[in-house]
Amino acid sequence: MIKFTNVTKMYRKGRVHALNNVSLFIGKGEFVYIIGPTGAGKSTFIKLLYREEKATSGEVEVNGTNLSKIRNSRVPYYRRKIGVVFQDYKLLPKKTVFENIAFALEVIGKSPRVIRKQVLTILQLVGLEDKAKAFPHELSGGQQQRVAIARALINNPGVMIADEPTGNLDPESSKEIMKLLEEISKRGTTIVMVTHDRQMVNTYKHRTITIESGFISNDTMGGGYNDNLQTW
Ligand code: ADP
Repeated sequence: MIKFTNVTKMYRKGRVHALNNVSLFIGKGEFVYIIGPTGAGKSTFIKLLYREEKATSGEVEVNGTNLSKIRNSRVPYYRRKIGVVFQDYKLLPKKTVFENIAFALEVIGKSPRVIRKQVLTILQLVGLEDKAKAFPHELSGGQQQRVAIARALINNPGVMIADEPTGNLDPESSKEIMKLLEEISKRGTTIVMVTHDRQMVNTYKHRTITIESGFISNDTMGGGYNDNLQTW
């Protein structure tokens, strides 16, 4: 669950208004695209969700936590319940697939037996149970992204942020990633996906929120770009 109430984010002591009085609600298990031109405020939106930035005014609430109120020392704990996936995967190159995913469980002190069970279960979900011992460079881009998704899911997050997750992938791998993200949202995880991929948005229809110049200019349940309205 994500709730923005009159959220404004300014940078440079108020000279840049990245988000202006944004209010929205995204429910549990919803799949939402965030689209809009460069400089519109999409990254700022995500940074607020991840508590990398704090709102200048207004309130951001994620899974019942008011992010304006939590102390900086609590942020790492908060982030364990948020999965994040990036365009460039951000896997640790010298660690195996298993180790990349297990890492998130080791830091919270889970036992090796529990870690093994959880990692193998999640690898099965993303269809990579036979790649546990492989290193990232031995995998295709689509497979690396699936490892990144598995890692993001390992702590069973309520919300998953996907920042251009198919940006580096061919159409076939992109389709697999989309199917996987849809499956994850059906299991109850809210997905917020930033994308520039018109074809994706028009093919896999989901609620689509358009941000332009720091405002929500469109919020459609059916999804899809409107090529008559949008010139970017
Ligand atoms: P998008 O992700 O849609 O490209 P951003 O959220 O990155 O947009 O940026 C929104 C606006 O805020 C832009 O005008 C950008 O230049 C500005 N901005 C973003 N981050 C900073 C920052 N750290 N300091 C100053 N201005 C910033």
